[in-house]
Amino acid sequence: MQSISKRQFVISAAAAGAGFGLDGPLAFVQPAGAQKATPSNPIGAPQALYDKGFAKFKVGDIEVIQLFDGIAPRAHDPNFIKNATVDETKAAQRAVGLSDENIVNSYTVTVVKLKGKTILFDSGTGGQLQATAGLIVKNDLMKKAGIDPAKISTIIVTHFHGDHISGLMAKDTNAQIFPNAEIIVPASEYKYWTNPSVTAGAAKRIQAVFPGWKNMRQYEGDKEVVPGVKPINTNGHSPGHMSYVLSSGRRQLIVLGDVAIMPYLFVKNPEWQAASDADANLAEQNRRKTFDRAVADKAVVTGYHFGMPGAGTIKKDGKGYAFVPVRAA
Ligand SMILES: [Zn+2]
Repeated sequence: MQSISKRQFVISAAAAGAGFGLDGPLAFVQPAGAQKATPSNPIGAPQALYDKGFAKFKVGDIEVIQLFDGIAPRAHDPNFIKNATVDETKAAQRAVGLSDENIVNSYTVTVVKLKGKTILFDSGTGGQLQATAGLIVKNDLMKKAGIDPAKISTIIVTHFHGDHISGLMAKDTNAQIFPNAEIIVPASEYKYWTNPSVTAGAAKRIQAVFPGWKNMRQYEGDKEVVPGVKPINTNGHSPGHMSYVLSSGRRQLIVLGDVAIMPYLFVKNPEWQAASDADANLAEQNRRKTFDRAVADKAVVTGYHFGMPGAGTIKKDGKGYAFVPVRAA
C-alpha cells in the first residue's frame, strides 16, 4: 500500500458496514492534509472534534465515545526512539502533515456502552499532569458526551503509567473519583508497581493508594473480564500492559492502550522502539502480533495517544502498517 499521507477516500457503504456497522458511505480522512500541529489540534484531525472534545461511532452494537483529555508537547530527544534519529522522527511527522517542531503527545480515553454497562478504559490525566491536559475534567466532557460519571460501572486499565491512571484519584487526597465503579486491572501490572522496590513513575502513589481500594479487581489470563471484553497480552510497554478486544457479531474493537503509542511513528514503523518501553523487544513483538490480528479481523482499534478521533483500522503498508482513522461524529 502506498504511503498514507495526503490521502482521503470514501469507501463503499458495503465495506463501511462490514468494518464499522454503520449505514451509508463513510469517509476515511487522513489526519493531516497540510495542517500544522497547534495546541488545540496536535495531530491535524478534524478541528471540530477537538473543539467538541469528544467523538462517537459504533462498532456493531457497541457505542464508542472517545474523550479528548489534551496534549503534552515535548522537545525532540535523540533518546526518545532507540533506533530512529530525530531527523527520521521529524520526517515521519512531516509525512502525515504534522509540524516537526515538537513531539506532541496526546491523551484520548475510550468509553464504551456495552450490554447495559458504561465502561471506561483508563482514566485520563485527571488534570494532574500537564496544564494542557485534563480537559475531560476541566471541560466536563463526560456530561457533554452524555455520560454520567456516577453511572460508570466499570473502569478497565491497560497499565499503570501516570497518564493512564491519575484520573482515578483526587489530586491532593487520592480519594476515589469513581468510588462506585469496579476497577479492573491486570494482576501482573499490579504486582509490578506495588513492589516497594519500584520507585519510577507513579509507583509510590500506587503503593500508597491502590492496596486500600476494595473496588479494584485483579485478573490473570485471557478470560473475559466483564461480559464482552477479553484481555490481550500486550506486555512490553510496561511489564503487565494489556489491551482489550470487544466483539459485536463479527465486528471487533481493540482498545490498544500504548501498544502503538503515536500512530504516525510506531504504526508506520513497528520496529521503532520507544525508550519508555519497559521491554522494547517484547513491546515490538506484541505490537506486530496485535496489528496483524487487527488487519486480519478488520478490527477498529483505539489508541490512548492517537489524538482524535483516536480510532481507525490498520492495514499492511510495505514493511510497516498504515493507520486509517474512522470517521466519527
Ligand atoms: Zn501512555
